[in-house]
Amino acid sequence: MSSNEILFQRAQITTPGGVNSPVRAFRSVGGTPRFIKKAQGAYIWDAEDKKYIDYIGSWGPAILGHAHPEVIAAVQNAAEQGLSFGAPTEAEILMAEEICKLVPSIEQVRLVSSGTEATMSALRLARGATKRDKIIKFEGCYHGHADSLLVKAGSGLLTFGNPTSSGVPADFTKHTLVLDYNDSDQLEAAFSQFGSEIACVIVEPVAGNMNLIKATEGFLKTMRRLCTEHGSILIFDEVMCGFRVALGGAQSLYNIQPDLTALGKVIGGGLPVAAFGGKAEIMAHLAPLGGVYQAGTLSGNPVAVAAGLTTLKLIQAPEFYTNLSQQTQKLVDGFNSIAAELNIDFCADAIGGMFGIYFRKEVPVSFNQVMQANAATFNRFFHEMLERGIYLAPSAFEAGFVSAMHSDSVIETTINAARDSLRKIY
Ligand code: PLP
Repeated sequence: MSSNEILFQRAQITTPGGVNSPVRAFRSVGGTPRFIKKAQGAYIWDAEDKKYIDYIGSWGPAILGHAHPEVIAAVQNAAEQGLSFGAPTEAEILMAEEICKLVPSIEQVRLVSSGTEATMSALRLARGATKRDKIIKFEGCYHGHADSLLVKAGSGLLTFGNPTSSGVPADFTKHTLVLDYNDSDQLEAAFSQFGSEIACVIVEPVAGNMNLIKATEGFLKTMRRLCTEHGSILIFDEVMCGFRVALGGAQSLYNIQPDLTALGKVIGGGLPVAAFGGKAEIMAHLAPLGGVYQAGTLSGNPVAVAAGLTTLKLIQAPEFYTNLSQQTQKLVDGFNSIAAELNIDFCADAIGGMFGIYFRKEVPVSFNQVMQANAATFNRFFHEMLERGIYLAPSAFEAGFVSAMHSDSVIETTINAARDSLRKIY
């Protein structure tokens, strides 16, 4: 047995499924998850010391590449001053100022420790501020695992064919309306029927939890207009796409200002920091000012904030996003030229440092189109790539991530591995 297999067997004795987050278990692609020993730059090493080019990047945070020396130094320095105080720090102010500067729709922000907390709290805030119950979400979008958002969700739930979690009372989700992504007509219909009851619409403006799907401009504009007309709050869940597709997030690319934004992943630089923020008049409903309660023992943790602040500084380097987008585009162009060369149903798409690969002829624009892609072929491709030292997300429903350390030669190695893998499959 390999070291990974031994560890996986051992892990399953004391941990359900052997993992602390379901999609890590390789259930849908089959085989043994790689147990990771270390990561540096664009690479990770497993328990057998096998080196892989990493396109998961801890599911998004590792935008600078793994273990950036400045981030590590900041974490070490912060740790030496104490690990957690449960009291405010100046670093938290700096972090909030930085977020408000980079994402102008955010006038005030609160730090939390996970994306789930960020969206869950944003939702409660929207309901508290509007005094309404109904929310709109879209099939295939994943917003973390708060009860009322676990309805027709993407990511791990989609991967395991269980998009609505058991254990969530129907009473908790009866106010959640689920519509089709990129379908403006359905939005219009929902608002004309329930407009005055809708607290908020929550959306991934670039969806990365049903593979990668970009929202159309018309869809987001319709959403913005309807929310304004009906006094509902528009929440952009940018936990994944914030600071990933552009410095100002997806909202800067689409030039649309949501009322509230949820952030996570990149803003923690690999440690647990997430945030939600937006208009000051809405944020004023939060305790201790208002009646909407939200709190956290480790919120704004000084070590995590040090990693986040340093990451936010480094991503503001000149040309950072131009270079990141170029490298991601090179990867996707490489994939698409192999598809043309071999004449196969395979294509890829990118936005900023995020990409999708699809076993179908054209880039999907809807959840249904994603579901029509050939998942069995993806699973074979995943394993062929893994064997060749390329670590892709172990699911056909997850986006991929490129970091600033994915150099030309790293991208070229990946494209060559993809060509060999696809030749073997077809
Ligand atoms: N929102 C989006 C768009 C996400 O992609 C995720 C996680 O992948 C979350 C929320 C939940 O974040 P976390 O896993 O940090 O709770």
